[in-house]
This record gives sequence, structure tokens and C-alpha cells, in this order.
Amino acid sequence: MPLTNHDVAVKLGAQPDASGGYPGSAYISRGLPVLGGCEGCGATLAPYNAYPSVSGYLRCSDCIGDTGFDSWDEYADHYANLGMTEGGAP
Ligand SMILES: [Zn+2]
Repeated sequence: MPLTNHDVAVKLGAQPDASGGYPGSAYISRGLPVLGGCEGCGATLAPYNAYPSVSGYLRCSDCIGDTGFDSWDEYADHYANLGMTEGGAP
């Protein structure tokens, strides 16, 4: 499967807290939303099931198709080419 927002946060240095989970601040502090909606079907998305798409919107696992990022390098290159910092939402 393509990269999720959780994968992006971990790549950007997010660490689990004492409970072993990732607090919302781990995402928010990296410019990633804690909740979002799928561009295709409107499903509610949290970091673990939110797939960034080349469209700039998030998509669910059913709707991401081949519009996601298969690797961190692909993701970082895409945002670098848009003049954005890595992981930084517009
Ligand atoms: Zn969807």
C-alpha cells in the first residue's frame, strides 16, 4: 500500500508516547491533520488510514488507486517540486 500520513509522521521523526501510541500532537506538529476526509468517497480518515494523493487531498485505501506515493522519496520529491517543505501541508 502507499504511504499513509502516519508513515509520513514517523519519517519526520514522530515517536510513540509512554502508552505506545502516537498522540495527536505527533501529527499536528508536523503539519499533518489528525482527522480528514477522503477526496473520493468522503470517508473519515485518521493518520493510519489517510493516504496522501498527488491531487493534494487525502484518500482512503479504496480510493487511492495509483494516485498515492509508494515511497518516502516519491512523496518528498513531489512536495519539493511544489516548493513545499517535506510533510508540510499547503
Ligand atoms: Zn474513499
